[in-house]
Amino acid sequence: MIWDAKHESMPREELRRLQGERLKAIARKVYDRVPFYKSKFNALGVKPEDINGIDDIAKLPFTSKDDMRDVFPYGLLACDLKDIVEIHTSSGTTGKPVVDAYTQGDIDLWGEVMARTLSMGGVTAEDIVQNAYGYGLFTGGLGAHYGIRRIGATCIPISGGNTKRQLDMMRDFGSTALTCTPSYSLYLAEAGKEEGIDFSKLPLRVGFFGAEPWSESMRADIQAKLHIKAYDIFGLTEIIGPGVAAECECQDLLHVFEDHFYPEIINPDTGKPLPDGEKGELVFTTLTKEGTPVIRYRTRDITYLTREPCPCGRTAVRMHRILGRTDDMLIIRGVNIFPSQVEQVLIKMDGVEPHYQLLVERQGTLDCLEVLVEMTEGLFSDELKRLEQKEREIEDKLREALLVHSKVKLVEPKSIPRSEGKAKRIIDKRSI
Ligand code: ADP
Ligand code: ZN
Repeated sequence: MIWDAKHESMPREELRRLQGERLKAIARKVYDRVPFYKSKFNALGVKPEDINGIDDIAKLPFTSKDDMRDVFPYGLLACDLKDIVEIHTSSGTTGKPVVDAYTQGDIDLWGEVMARTLSMGGVTAEDIVQNAYGYGLFTGGLGAHYGIRRIGATCIPISGGNTKRQLDMMRDFGSTALTCTPSYSLYLAEAGKEEGIDFSKLPLRVGFFGAEPWSESMRADIQAKLHIKAYDIFGLTEIIGPGVAAECECQDLLHVFEDHFYPEIINPDTGKPLPDGEKGELVFTTLTKEGTPVIRYRTRDITYLTREPCPCGRTAVRMHRILGRTDDMLIIRGVNIFPSQVEQVLIKMDGVEPHYQLLVERQGTLDCLEVLVEMTEGLFSDELKRLEQKEREIEDKLREALLVHSKVKLVEPKSIPRSEGKAKRIIDKRSI
């Protein structure tokens, strides 16, 4: 179901006009009200009156995560502090958190874009949504909450963690939809299986998973284990939180809610915009946000865009699922490696679970990559010789996929720490 057909299926020319008008207004607003942006515009010699359509966006300055940290906490406010009704921060995966301050208008917008997201997976007022994203400063919990409430569905605001209670509630209340990180959904599946839960007998039918990278094969795994349809949803605190882009019922590519969040792809080294289909760094400009509008925010996420029409009827540009982050990309002996590549190899193999960690160390001048992989109970009870064979087998497959050698170490079932939020995949000892 299309939640807001007027905006989500707007003819592209009309959409571009709307974006142009909104960009013009936001450029004027940040120039007049945010000294940080005024000096950035001035440094490039650009004035708000130079912005007359969406294509003029390339004239505007970029905003980086470091910029945001420099103006912590209120330096991006474009309204009076008294008009801010709620504050969130990023989870701080990569350092000091950044702030998003919301007006009531921003909170309403958040509910709208999350209602669009959940509607893509068929959620209606009839549904019971178990919201297992963390509530609090993290945007996941409350962002999903506002969307669930906007649709008029029943929200179970259970927040993250307490797995036993999650499973009890899922059974007792008959949750039909689940929202959490993809890694936590697999953990729930695993814990449920141990408790003897047959997920095919539960009313649960759909899940919305985001906040961390996952793969197509992980989707297959989640769908099979939980007996649901699993949708990828994307967002980041700096822009609004979850509700920036989401998969429609085609479960292929994520529609960006570009009437509010305008995406570009740039070459991360030169900052030059790249055409559709080319991979690069994702950049967002908020077109309507009131509290902390952001101009050309460099997300460090890597993906590509396509404007090919989608069978669902929505016209909004689509992005490929995130391929990695410029900053969780490991460079091992000159080769770029993303944890998702390792995951794709593991998920196709018997005897191992998609729970893993990459350990990087420097021995002399050489970077060494060790991959810790959890084995299944079955393999664990096998003889040592079998385990060694398996390690060699995974090493060969990883070398084919990554193009560098890594050492694989099989570890006991359930020994890699589970996360109730984002999974920690990389331990880089080079920087310690
Ligand atoms: P932090 O950068 O501290 O983790 P956030 O909690 O705001 O801050 O997380 C936003 C980031 O999470 C995004 O920039 C992206 O890297 C990642 N992310 C969010 N949703 C997804 C998704 N569906 N797939 C891959 N990565 C995602
Ligand atoms: Zn679609």
